[in-house]
Amino acid sequence: MKHLIPLFLLCILGMAACHRPSAADRPQVVVSIEPLRHFVEAVAGERCEVVALVPSGASPETYEPTPRQLVAMNDALIYFRVGTLGFERTRLEKIRENAPGVRMVSLSDGLTLLPHSHGDAAADGEDPHVWTSPLNVRTMATKIHAALCEADSAGTAYYTQRLQAFVQRVDSLDAAIKTLLQDCPNRTFLIQHPALGYFARDYGLHQLSVEHEGKEAGTARVEQLIRACRAKGVHTVFVQPEHRGRVANAIAREAGAEVVEVNPLSYEWEAEMIRIAKALADGC
Ligand SMILES: [Zn+2]
Repeated sequence: MKHLIPLFLLCILGMAACHRPSAADRPQVVVSIEPLRHFVEAVAGERCEVVALVPSGASPETYEPTPRQLVAMNDALIYFRVGTLGFERTRLEKIRENAPGVRMVSLSDGLTLLPHSHGDAAADGEDPHVWTSPLNVRTMATKIHAALCEADSAGTAYYTQRLQAFVQRVDSLDAAIKTLLQDCPNRTFLIQHPALGYFARDYGLHQLSVEHEGKEAGTARVEQLIRACRAKGVHTVFVQPEHRGRVANAIAREAGAEVVEVNPLSYEWEAEMIRIAKALADGC
């Protein structure tokens, strides 16, 4: 009998933890882009419903949230933004006006931002793609955890356990990328749209981009890039689905490099980071 009561209690607690509320019961958390949905879901688990504003295939530099999305944001528990994206900066006031009560958390606050001539209407020369660094994502996850615990304190133990598991996954991912790239002699790559600046910083790589200050390369720049690719032994040219890669393809042909399509805006963030590292390691 002595053992029965705790066991009984454990069952009740276990059932409560495993109870999966339907989407309608769960508080909604809004995020700007799909990779953030990945990070927030990793920490929030079943306790929240996470929705991304920018649909896949749309550009987060210029996206315009729909009136419906703005209204829905009013009921959200939290809005997690990167804080560096073009549309977040240009639309922030509109979002604030439409959803004055929503908690807004900028996940890039406190990160060391890289200078970047990205060419967005609103970016002040900072590289907005902070989520392509596992190191940054570890910090972002801690911020997500703190905000969730504050907004929904009943879930603190659950969120903490999930944060620890996610941080462990991010650490293994970081270690796996380091291992893949450790013996790579040629550390320069070319990319259509410069989305991998933080990835390059973390792993001692050098990013060249076709797009410069938001503009496609002209003839002189194309020639300069071909020369740079040959000189640096560039073997991988990345193109992204939402940016036209015609010029990148032409440069790759001239420089004898392989074209690889990557999607740093994918929900499958961990798989995408590994794919990028593997493409680079394969070319070495
Ligand atoms: Zn971008």
